[in-house]
Amino acid sequence: MKSNLQKSVKIKNNTKQFGRIENKSLIPYGRQCIDESDISAVVDVMRSDWLTTGPKVLEFEKAISDYVGAKEAIAVSSGTAALQSAMYAAGIGPGDEVILPPMTFVATANSVIFQGGTPVFVDVDPDTLLIDPVEVEKKITPSTKAIIAMDYAGQACEYDKLQTIARKHGLILIADACHSLGATYKGAKTGSLADLTVFSFHPVKHITTGEGGMIVTDNANFAEKMRIFRNHGITSDYQQRQKKGTWYYEMVDLGYNYRLTDIQCALGLSQLRKLPGWIDRRREIAFNYDKAFSNISVVKPLTVSPNVNHSYHLYVIQLQMDELVASRAAIYSDLRRENIGVNVHYIPVHLHPFYKNRFGYQKGDYPVAEAAYERILSLPLFQSMTDNDINIVIKSIKKIIFNYQTH
Ligand SMILES: *Cc1c(COP(=O)(O)O)cnc(C)c1O
Repeated sequence: MKSNLQKSVKIKNNTKQFGRIENKSLIPYGRQCIDESDISAVVDVMRSDWLTTGPKVLEFEKAISDYVGAKEAIAVSSGTAALQSAMYAAGIGPGDEVILPPMTFVATANSVIFQGGTPVFVDVDPDTLLIDPVEVEKKITPSTKAIIAMDYAGQACEYDKLQTIARKHGLILIADACHSLGATYKGAKTGSLADLTVFSFHPVKHITTGEGGMIVTDNANFAEKMRIFRNHGITSDYQQRQKKGTWYYEMVDLGYNYRLTDIQCALGLSQLRKLPGWIDRRREIAFNYDKAFSNISVVKPLTVSPNVNHSYHLYVIQLQMDELVASRAAIYSDLRRENIGVNVHYIPVHLHPFYKNRFGYQKGDYPVAEAAYERILSLPLFQSMTDNDINIVIKSIKKIIFNYQTH
């Protein structure tokens, strides 16, 4: 029925109303911001003695733990490695269940399986797309060992409620804060709100090291376990042995090489200095979008809780499909044709073939996440976006929505 409707819609000529939109090159949904100070920080390390396991790693770990307000930080080679390391620290293994939302990147759930555990999805809140604490409590069984909260788009989850549930049932609370570096919940930064918190430094995230990740925690025992895990399961690293003048080391558990290099950590340190200004700019861009869409009922931004200060990794809108005669796919394609790099975050994890085949998940299992998936779009958002870029995105969205609106 929808496709018939689509065919019958005449594309209105609204050049007059919206003016000509001059946009020759793609405005991506996210991108890194690298300047000369970043480049020279990297070059300095390349001229130094330590390319890996050197002083820049410790410096970057200290800078991140200071920034977020955690006692310990462990740098690793990616956000995914950080998630797996957190699962290791939490002692997740065969027979253990870990509760998490399906509206996340696949790596969140994969990390549970890497360690032999079973991911158990619970549905999200329809307005924020964050894990619903009420649903979490319903899914707890004697096998449940941990909860992973994911701060979707850069908004911190309801950590008070999640902490209460975790404490009541003796569970470890893990935050996948790959979207929410610099965000706060009731004034406290992500990184200080869970037993273990994971960040990613992929180029689309707030700050980048190329690839990279970090786990922060106040728990010294967890920290020690993860330092061993990222280094083949070996109890001391090369630098520690050199200091002691010994060749002897012990491998005490099966670990990986998940180390982050000094080259990358130098880049991370240089990026981190710029983070506060970048978050301000991200909030400014989001504020501009909010204002532009406030009187367009078809374009509904996610709800932001008064408890949080959002750090806007993504700006996500939920299209009100019942007010549109086109599918989200059609609107997506039209925007792409206008060089607006919209994206969709995420296909609910349980709908991927691997998850369907391995765990028997099917469509209908998580109706809120699935319904959201049909109507979400992530709009371009990165710190170096110009005011002109923002206006082009807003104009293009208004123009395309206008084509398909039912009233
Ligand atoms: C980016 C991301 C990851 C994975 O991080 P990588 O550094 O790409 O491995 C995990 N979870 C979420 C929510 C992410 O956005």
